Amino acid sequence: MAIAPKPLVAGNWKMNGLRGSLETAMAIARGVDAGVRARSDVLICPPATVLHAMTSALIGTGVATGGQDCHASPSGAFTGDISAAMVADAGAAFVIVGHSERRTLHGETSADVKAKAEAALGAFLVPIICIGETLAEREAGRTIAVVKKQLRGSLPETATGAGVVIAYEPVWAIGTGKTPTAADVAEVHAEIRAELGRLLGKAEAAKVRVLYGGSVKPSNAAELMALPNVNGALVGGASLKAEDFLGIVRAI
Ligand code: PEP
Repeated sequence: MAIAPKPLVAGNWKMNGLRGSLETAMAIARGVDAGVRARSDVLICPPATVLHAMTSALIGTGVATGGQDCHASPSGAFTGDISAAMVADAGAAFVIVGHSERRTLHGETSADVKAKAEAALGAFLVPIICIGETLAEREAGRTIAVVKKQLRGSLPETATGAGVVIAYEPVWAIGTGKTPTAADVAEVHAEIRAELGRLLGKAEAAKVRVLYGGSVKPSNAAELMALPNVNGALVGGASLKAEDFLGIVRAI
């Protein structure tokens, strides 16, 4: 049996955080001791405006930083956008692509997400590719089909197992306090792993970190993180408070 990849706990701060919130990042870093570092990797994805300052502040702490999105093009007339190279230049090691808020509010398709993930790989960033079904899709019994289709459409052909992260985030669980049952999460993650096997080959698929995201909190993290094929968490709201985020980190 393949050895499970080292878990990753990633905080997505979304559009929250001014320079003053670097103190929250430092409080998180103070809680990431040698024991935590041995068990899992810890990542904060702040707004782009504080990405460079946060990366500098976290040097030597073992806490990495990531962007929340990147443009697919390396440069050009794209007012307000940020290229993958710019995210990397700010010191990030990861970048989230295809978050459901981008897919829904900015109309991003899986083809767009794939192009962004390719740009991220080209800039030596690890893309965290988000996939997940809506409530209507779940109620129609289409969860597995939707998630597999998004995965096939969003994963670059050049992806390697260690070079990408997949985040399964049911859209209806994001920011709502609702989570799927443990059995449902385990089923979807097993299907994602199997689909990765078809796309990358079994050996590479075993190396991919498949995160669960959607209302993860200290009280449910241990159960969710212990499930087979769950290799960490993508955390929104609970990553904004150091104690809550550390509660999740310590649950692994
Ligand atoms: C997210 O936005 O990726 C997320 C999982 O949010 P929350 O933890 O708040 O549900």
